[in-house]
Amino acid sequence: MVILQQTQWYKSKTPWYEPPASFFQQTGREPKTAIVIGAGLAGASAAYQLAQLGLQVQVLEQAHSMAQGASGNLAGALHPLVTADWNLRSQWYAQGLQASLAFVQPRLATGQISGELSGLMHLAVDEKNRQRMQQAVQRVAHLSGLAHWCDAAQASQKLGGKTAQSGLFFPNAGWLNPPSIVKYCLAHSGVSVKYACPVLAAEYDKRNQAWLISTPNRGWQADVLVVATGAISGLNEVFSLPIRPVKGQVTSLKPEHQAWVLKCAVAHQGYSAPAPKGYAVTGATFEAPDLSPESSEQADQQNRAMVQASLPDWLCSTTKGALGRVSFRPTTPDHLPIIGAQPDFDWMMRQYFSASSSHTPYRFPPVVYQPGLYVSNGHGARGLMSVFLAAELISAQLVGKPPPLSAKLYAASHPARFAVRHWQRG
Ligand SMILES: Cc1cc2nc3c(=O)[nH]c(=O)nc-3n(C[C@H](O)[C@H](O)[C@H](O)COP(=O)(O)OP(=O)(O)OC[C@H]3O[C@@H](n4cnc5c(N)ncnc54)[C@H](O)[C@@H]3O)c2cc1C
Repeated sequence: MVILQQTQWYKSKTPWYEPPASFFQQTGREPKTAIVIGAGLAGASAAYQLAQLGLQVQVLEQAHSMAQGASGNLAGALHPLVTADWNLRSQWYAQGLQASLAFVQPRLATGQISGELSGLMHLAVDEKNRQRMQQAVQRVAHLSGLAHWCDAAQASQKLGGKTAQSGLFFPNAGWLNPPSIVKYCLAHSGVSVKYACPVLAAEYDKRNQAWLISTPNRGWQADVLVVATGAISGLNEVFSLPIRPVKGQVTSLKPEHQAWVLKCAVAHQGYSAPAPKGYAVTGATFEAPDLSPESSEQADQQNRAMVQASLPDWLCSTTKGALGRVSFRPTTPDHLPIIGAQPDFDWMMRQYFSASSSHTPYRFPPVVYQPGLYVSNGHGARGLMSVFLAAELISAQLVGKPPPLSAKLYAASHPARFAVRHWQRG
C-alpha cells in the first residue's frame, strides 16, 4: 500500500485553494455544537468524526430513518480504481481507500459493522478490457502490490463458481453493508438524530457566529454546519453544489435465487457481492437522466444479463421475489467528490471573478471561507472509498490540523474548483 499521508501544512500556489484557518482562528472560540444535514454515509461519517472531537452533533434527516438514499443498498464494493494511467482520480481514490480501510477494518474485525474484506475479483469482461487491465498493472507500480492476475480457473475458484473470464484479484478489497456503517456512526454518544426533519433553509448569523437552521416545526442553532445531502436535495443549489443525480437500480437476491454461494465480491460490467444473511446483490443500472424513484422489471433484467455474461450459472432460472432498489448517485462533472470547508462565493465573486483570470495568481488574496460551513457530497458511485477521507478532512480543517491529503488532491476535490475553472475558461 502506498503511503500518501500529508503531515505538514502547505501553502497553496493558488490563493483560491488556500486551506482555511481553524474554527478557533476564524471566530476566536472553540466549536461546541454541529448540525449535519443528511443521515447517509457522508453525513454519518462526518457526524462521527466531529463527535470524536468532542462536539455535540445533531443530525437532521428528512426521511423516517437512516440510510434511505444511496447509502441503503445491502452491499457495496470497496476496491481500488483501476485506470490505465495513474491519473488524478486513481490517486485520489487510492488515498480515499486508505482512509476507508483504516476506519472499517478494525470495526469489521469486532463485528461492529457488516461486510467482508477477503477479496474482490475484477473480471476482464472482453479482450479490450483484459488488455487495458494488464497494461494498468504494468504501468502503475503500486497496483502490482495490491492485486494479482488470475486465469479463468483461478478466478472460478476464488468466486466459488464458474467463470470463463480472467481478472485481477484484490485480496484486501471486498464488500461492505453501508447501512451498518451509518448505524454504527450515528450510535456515537455525541450524536443525536432527528428523522422526518427536512431542512428548509440555513443562514449564518454573523452577530452570534452561529448557523440558524429552519425545519418545519422548529429552528436549530449550531457553531458548525455540514451539508451532506446526497443526490437529490433543494439545498444542493442553495450551497452551490453542482451535483448530478444518476439513477441506479440494484437487485437484491435471496439465498434461493443463487445456484451457488458467491465467495467474494466481483466487478464485471457491473458488480455483484455477497450480503448479510446469505443474501447477495447484483447491479447496477445507470439510468440518467431519469429521476423517477420507481424500480422496474426491465432494470432487474438488465442486472441479471450483466452478471450472467460473467457468471453464467450463478443465478437460478427464476429469481422471482428478487427486489429492485432504486437510489441516486450524487455525481459531479469531474467525477470527484466535493468535500471540506465551503468558500464564501459572494466574496469570490467580488475578489476574483469580477477581475481577469489572466492576472498572476499572486495578485489575488487567499480565499475566504464561510465560518464553520463544510460539505461532504458528490461521492458518486464510489462513496465507500471517499466519505471517510471527507470526514477526516472536515475534522482536520475544523481544528487547524494539516489536511489529510496532498495539495494537488486537496485542490482536486475543493468545493470552489468548478467556479474557478468556469472563471478561468473565460
Ligand atoms: C445503485 C448504486 C450502487 C452503488 N454501488 C456502490 C458501490 O458498490 N461502492 C461504492 O463505494 N459506492 C457505491 N454507490 C455510491 C454510494 O452509495 C454513494 O456514494 C453514497 O451512498 C452517498 O452517500 P451520501 O450520504 O452522500 O448520500 P445519501 O445516502 O443519499 O444520503 C443523503 C441524505 O441526505 C438527506 N437529505 C437531503 N436533503 C435533505 C434536507 N433538506 N433535509 C434533511 N435531509 C436531507 C437524504 O434524505 C439522504 O438520506 C452506489 C450508489 C448507487 C445509487
